[in-house]
Amino acid sequence: MRFVTSSVDRFSPLFEGFFDLLSFLLEPLRRENQFLQPLAIFTGGGLNFAADLGGNVQQFTHCLLRFSDLIDLPFHWTTRPLQDKAISRHIPRIILRSVLTQSIRRTAMSLSGRVAFVTGASQGIGRTCALRLAKDGATVAVAARNLEQLNELVAEIAAAGGQATAFVLDVADEEQVKTTVKAAIAQFGKIDILVNNAGITRDQLVMRMKRADWDAVLQTNLTSAYLCIQQVIPSMLKQRWGRIINITSVFGQMGQAGQANYAASKAGLIGLTMAIAREVGSRTITCNAVAPGFIETAMTAVLSDEFKQTAVKQIPLGRVGTPDDVAGAVAFLASDDAAYVTGHTLSVNGGMLMG
Ligand code: NAP
Repeated sequence: MRFVTSSVDRFSPLFEGFFDLLSFLLEPLRRENQFLQPLAIFTGGGLNFAADLGGNVQQFTHCLLRFSDLIDLPFHWTTRPLQDKAISRHIPRIILRSVLTQSIRRTAMSLSGRVAFVTGASQGIGRTCALRLAKDGATVAVAARNLEQLNELVAEIAAAGGQATAFVLDVADEEQVKTTVKAAIAQFGKIDILVNNAGITRDQLVMRMKRADWDAVLQTNLTSAYLCIQQVIPSMLKQRWGRIINITSVFGQMGQAGQANYAASKAGLIGLTMAIAREVGSRTITCNAVAPGFIETAMTAVLSDEFKQTAVKQIPLGRVGTPDDVAGAVAFLASDDAAYVTGHTLSVNGGMLMG
């Protein structure tokens, strides 16, 4: 039996999907040639694997090249014949898997090398999006008004092996948007992914709605997105790549009594998304919206239990959403897997509104 052995320099949670991905890449060869029987071997600081090659070293090497392209990290291998016995002596753990799994998808969606700017990242959906983008490999600029909460988030991302910096920002303040985005670009050299997530509600029936509450909601939820987009676009145009993701709402799609200001701001974001998508598409920049339904965060914590129970009855999936549900959609739209998706509003609402 002839084996090839390979190893990666670093082992981190990102490599959870290493062996699955490799097996996935090898699968067609295996089906065709019936020759590969890969074994994964985890050792101290690194990850090694071995595979029975039969006589197909060249095809196997081709797979490794594709793999190293995908993981975008230093990756070295050597090929040498090994004895069955030698392998079993040195294998602390052997894992045999050959199907496409969640972890493969995570690895394939890697955002390593990308820089993301997330507004409203101090809590709720924005915080979870920042964590998810960092987990997928992006360096994240987290922006909001509450520095203490941002610092906690930065520490959590760093503890998980990611990279993030906090920026105090009131998105309703045009000057602050300009200086903060500039500061982030000065620090990281670019912004690849913008997530316009910051948002507020000031609910009231329209007859009683104060002009100040209308203005505050429009300024924070909609005008801020226009301002942030305007500031990041030159960086994206320069590199001819970008992802703009606006967090809208199901109520921007269907309206909601008592939320004329909020619904107008969120419907405005959908129009903004389509217009920007048309303006910048030729430069490989996509602009999409994510429309959450009822998500469990501080924003919805103020609603009465009765309201929540009634709302859940209208959700075919039978539960309220979590920030992770939304972050998954954001991570997808930020990834290369969504390269041909633009101007789209992706509903994450458990089926509350369809079509
Ligand atoms: P949340 O827990 O209240 O968080 C809102 C975030 O926005 C906070 O981090 C807050 O940070 C930030 N923010 C508010 N005003 C800001 C300002 N002027 N400048 C900078 N940041 C500001 O709400 P959430 O549920 O996570 O909502 C996030 C987004 O999802 C919002 O756009 C919301 O409309 C949308 N959404 C939520 C739901 C839901 O059911 N939860 C449904 C549909 C859409 P600071 O206070 O630290 O500034």
